[in-house]
Amino acid sequence: MSKKIGTKCVHSGNIVDDKFHGSISPIYPATTYDYRKTDTYPRYFNTPNQLALSRKISDLESAEDSILFGSGLGAVSSTMFSFLKSGDHVILHDSIYGGTINLVNTEFKKFNIDFSYIDINDVDLLKSTIKKNTRIIYFETPTNPLLQIVDISLISSVAKENDIISIIDNTFASPINQNPINFGIDLVIHSATKYLGGHSDILAGSVSGNTEHIEKIKKSGINYGANLSDYTVWLLERSIKTLSVRVNAQNQNALDLANFLDESPLIKKVYYPGLKNHLSHDIASRQMIGFGGMMSFEVIDKIDSEDFVSDLKIISPTMSLAGVESSITSPSKTSHKKVDPQIRKKLGISDNLLRFSVGIEDIEDLMLDLDKSLKNNVR
Ligand SMILES: *Cc1c(COP(=O)(O)O)cnc(C)c1O
Repeated sequence: MSKKIGTKCVHSGNIVDDKFHGSISPIYPATTYDYRKTDTYPRYFNTPNQLALSRKISDLESAEDSILFGSGLGAVSSTMFSFLKSGDHVILHDSIYGGTINLVNTEFKKFNIDFSYIDINDVDLLKSTIKKNTRIIYFETPTNPLLQIVDISLISSVAKENDIISIIDNTFASPINQNPINFGIDLVIHSATKYLGGHSDILAGSVSGNTEHIEKIKKSGINYGANLSDYTVWLLERSIKTLSVRVNAQNQNALDLANFLDESPLIKKVYYPGLKNHLSHDIASRQMIGFGGMMSFEVIDKIDSEDFVSDLKIISPTMSLAGVESSITSPSKTSHKKVDPQIRKKLGISDNLLRFSVGIEDIEDLMLDLDKSLKNNVR
């Protein structure tokens, strides 16, 4: 019988300590092993702790195999460059993580790899953008910072029809809320720095997929060397034991806060896929198990968003996301700072937009924190 996801978080892939009978996975930080007995080496992705954690993440994503990297972007770049060669073409959704955009814009050209950013929700546009040399379709859902939803089944079916590899960055949803392989996606990437780690103290990434694809990434990944240390692997395995509990608490807090903000006269707009007024609420309901801990919202013009953020006592103004602690950031001043203000406006990212990563604090405290600061800062 297949176990439920919370049980998998705790038990999947753990190393049994046969020698001392401890109840958790031992850590094997060795970087050198007896060559007559094994070819184990951390950069070959085959240490005991890497294999154990890969097993756990594979179980969470319904994948045959997984591979770990030293960062989310290490996972993205190693995966892309494992499948691409000079002359290939890649289609990317026009709303993806800034670091991935920088990777594509600055590095792909050097290797004569062509790319198109499009709104892949427009299926006709997607189909007409596919060329003979298109190798990869790459996207995220929900997107940053506006929490737009992409129809995963639709993308995977177009990709399959055209023999193209489909890759999703599943970081914002986490494996608790969305398992894209069940909808036909080939490869699922996580910045484990976010929900998988969950405590804002780990930098790591993962890729999950079928054995053939993961073997290919391993083969090239050994050359790229974007590995992580087994200390981090061990800590990440420990962190994932509470992933289901954390994310479910974040889902519930976020849904309650999205409703609270949506009803406030001091808020102009809330972007959260769990709200019935979200443009793609139906698609989100079909493909997501929970709606996640990420949302964004715009305060009314009579409130300066910076003053509002500065007055918050519990929710901290930090750039990254997905920790157990709530945090808030201004995309126009951080992730999208370098984007031309005109384009920013077109994308819907106003100066008053705030991206909110909801933590696991008590809902009453979070609500009060938001409410007080909103009311204190109306001009
Ligand atoms: C943070 C993030 C990344 C990059 O991950 P790092 O661990 O910082 O390299 C990629 N995609 C998304 C959606 C992210 O939020």
